[in-house]
Amino acid sequence: SRASAGWVKLFEQGNAEMKTELGGKGANLAEMTNAGLPVPPGFTITTEACRAYYAAGAALPEGLMEEARAALAELEGRLGKTFGDAGQPLLVSVRSGSVTSMPGMMDTILNVGLNDDTVRGVAEATGNGRFAYDCYRRLIQMFGNVVFGIEPIRFEKLLHEMKRQTGAEHDRDVGEDGWIMLVEQYKALIAKSGKPFPQSVGEQLTLAVEAVFRSWNNHRAKVYRKVNRIPDEQGTAVNIQAMVFGNKGDDCGTGVVFTRNPSTGEKSLFGEYLTNAQGEDVVAGVRTPLPIAELEQQMPDVYASLKQTAERLERHYRDMQDIEFTVEHGKLYLLQTRGGKRSAQAAMKISADLVDEGVLTREEAIVRIEIGHLDQLLHPAIPADASLDVIATGLPASPGAATGEAVFDADRAEEWARSGRRVILIRSETTPEDIHGVLAAEGVLTSRGGMTSHAAVVARGMGKPCVCGCEEARIDFEARELRAGSVVIREGEAISIDGSTGRVIRGEVPLRAGEMSAELVRLLGWADEIRSLRVAANADNPVDAAKAREFGAEGIGLCRTEHMFLAADRLPAVREMILAESKEEREIALAKLLPMQQDDFEGMFRAMDGLPVTIRLLDPPLHEFLPNADELRQRIAELTAAAADAEPDGSDRRAQLTELETMLRKVRSLHEANPMLGQRGCRLGVLFPEIYDMQTEAVFRAALVCIGEGVRVVPEVMVPLVGHVNELRFLRERIERTAAAILGDRAGECPYKVGTMIEVPRAALTAAQIAECADFFSFGTNDLTQMTYGCSRDDAEGKFLTHYVEHKLLPHNPFQTLDQDGVGQLIEWALRQGKAVRGNLKTGVCGEHGGDPQSIFFCHAAGLDYVSCSPYRIPLARIAAAQARI
Ligand code: ADP
Ligand code: MG
Ligand code: MG
Repeated sequence: SRASAGWVKLFEQGNAEMKTELGGKGANLAEMTNAGLPVPPGFTITTEACRAYYAAGAALPEGLMEEARAALAELEGRLGKTFGDAGQPLLVSVRSGSVTSMPGMMDTILNVGLNDDTVRGVAEATGNGRFAYDCYRRLIQMFGNVVFGIEPIRFEKLLHEMKRQTGAEHDRDVGEDGWIMLVEQYKALIAKSGKPFPQSVGEQLTLAVEAVFRSWNNHRAKVYRKVNRIPDEQGTAVNIQAMVFGNKGDDCGTGVVFTRNPSTGEKSLFGEYLTNAQGEDVVAGVRTPLPIAELEQQMPDVYASLKQTAERLERHYRDMQDIEFTVEHGKLYLLQTRGGKRSAQAAMKISADLVDEGVLTREEAIVRIEIGHLDQLLHPAIPADASLDVIATGLPASPGAATGEAVFDADRAEEWARSGRRVILIRSETTPEDIHGVLAAEGVLTSRGGMTSHAAVVARGMGKPCVCGCEEARIDFEARELRAGSVVIREGEAISIDGSTGRVIRGEVPLRAGEMSAELVRLLGWADEIRSLRVAANADNPVDAAKAREFGAEGIGLCRTEHMFLAADRLPAVREMILAESKEEREIALAKLLPMQQDDFEGMFRAMDGLPVTIRLLDPPLHEFLPNADELRQRIAELTAAAADAEPDGSDRRAQLTELETMLRKVRSLHEANPMLGQRGCRLGVLFPEIYDMQTEAVFRAALVCIGEGVRVVPEVMVPLVGHVNELRFLRERIERTAAAILGDRAGECPYKVGTMIEVPRAALTAAQIAECADFFSFGTNDLTQMTYGCSRDDAEGKFLTHYVEHKLLPHNPFQTLDQDGVGQLIEWALRQGKAVRGNLKTGVCGEHGGDPQSIFFCHAAGLDYVSCSPYRIPLARIAAAQARI
């Protein structure tokens, strides 16, 4: 009746494709067995049995152990040994093995099958009593720990005491008598805690299998699954395998090798081993293992066959492998192989090398790239082996690491940076007024604000490392110092931040530069040949534009002109424009802004020579340009108090007061109950058309200057937040009029487009009408998501949205990964409607989704022409766009 329920598969019956059923370890043991590699025989209990165990309320499914015993009989026949037989006992390991590798998270028990009788059998059969009792004490310790839950430290104490008594310094100095003594003490320890160590080998096996099933739900396994998004329902397989022994003498050993260097990708064996040791000794850290190169000296034949096997496995799996092996009396056995975890840098080198070696096609290499790796590659990072003095941890708001002198205000940051010093800007929170400080700093640290706070968004856009909301750090602006626990960091002292993990570190840390390695450049080149989706950049200044080009941007998909307005030298004029009480006053302010904007656009056109530059007309949260009302009130109060002292320069102070009060009045009048749905985007443009007129004028003046320099200019003027075609029609006419006026008879040299953002659901729904006035649609998926879901991003993230995702009400955060079922439908609808009216309508996405791989796959499938994302995400987008097409 064996195999009737099919809970069990011999290694011969499986293969690498069967990971879901056999777990990764089991599937690969099967694959290696069938490839004729030296794997000790064994079988796998399926993950389905584990699920059945849990479904039945932690009871082994019926027939499981019978099937296991039958499979064991098969091994007995082959090896001429019998499980539980005192003469020629068969010993096995009982090993966990999940579908997705979870290294070291679950439990494994070795030497199952030893008891007081069989241990003597092993001693006699091998003539090595020391070895037999070494195995036995290992079994009892692992069993006591894994099955009975007794802490390892209690066993280790006994081991330590025994060594002290017998005068043994190392484990290897312990003789047979020492191990015999320890075995008795271990058994007593277990008996004391409840049940005795089972002498029945059948019972050992059953309890071990159950314990491995249980280890699926131990704490560290659960945490690991959560972090790595591995489903809790999968369950683990159990592998039962005949033991081979690395602890039989000096011609024995055990180790782990990678077929290539996992941190650099270099093609050479990399790993460690121990002689006269058993499996877990290498990782447990009780003895310092030797580098694998030494094996070549110690056991040249073994090394040669290990090297050959490693190459063979790599060719077979067509990927770098992480291999566990054991040597018994000079013979090599393989106990595990899996795709090796590797650094981002190594991943790129290995992929490119495998293509060069003819192992992978270019497509395969591209498909295999882990997108997350690209993120790590381009930002400066802290080397993994650096020793760090971490003083606090905040939110990892913008990836990459930075190191420099602590500075507590934006002006000083700018000043110090100008004199060539590297600074970290530290603020309680940042406001638009700090933007120049952010620009000047290597990185930003704030004690308040979340992942979408101003500091975070700005820093990410600029590719600057940023740690936000670090509440453990108390920032004292007056004293110019930061306190975290007992540590104080004063202005000018060295501090480092890691925006990829949120760590705040005292002192300077040497950083590894983030750059496009030669391998990455090659991979990107291959991706470009494959993909059809174009990739543009969101960039607001020539520096970012140049960076974007370096990373391969095919244009600027979104230039947010309000960001240009935030620069320190513009703010006064921008404020004047906002505070203007009449059209005339406003025009005076606008006239001041015009040359600055023109300058901005010239910079962008030059950087993008010949590539399209999409300029979005002002879409301002106007209040962001004005000081905060509370702050104003406080300053007014201070000034009023000081004025009471009636100093001679009082008139000056009075003027200042009046100015502040005007400002406060305006700030109040601009207050909106719901700014997200207020007078934003083209609504402002319609009410105050002179603002957009100025911007349009600046665009075309800049175009003319650049054309004069021989730069090819392709401007695309984009109107934000359109909800009704009439808004766009009105503004388009003005844009065309201004363009015609500026370009005059040189209009032929400057082909331009006028288009719109599609970010209000109504615009998507009425896309057929809107397309009549638009040369292009750019889906502003940030706003489109907000408005489709009816929740503001700033209020949702970190509040209910996090809860939703944690409790699986939503599969993911729709602001990170596009909601295909909802927002996606609007996009597809608008695309169809728009194209029906205007066949050559250009379409793209410019929200943060443009840099998210899942969303990029959707954009490709939906038939959009391009995505636009921040410069640092461009390589990622190029790869994802290629993956979408493969
Ligand atoms: P993990 O998943 O934690 O790596 P494993 O099941 O791979 O646990 O077992 C850990 C180590 O135990 C292996 O690397 C190997 O050295 C040793 N081991 C497991 N099974 C056997 C066996 N049949 N013979 C010899 N050593 C084994
Ligand atoms: Mg292992
Ligand atoms: Mg928007």
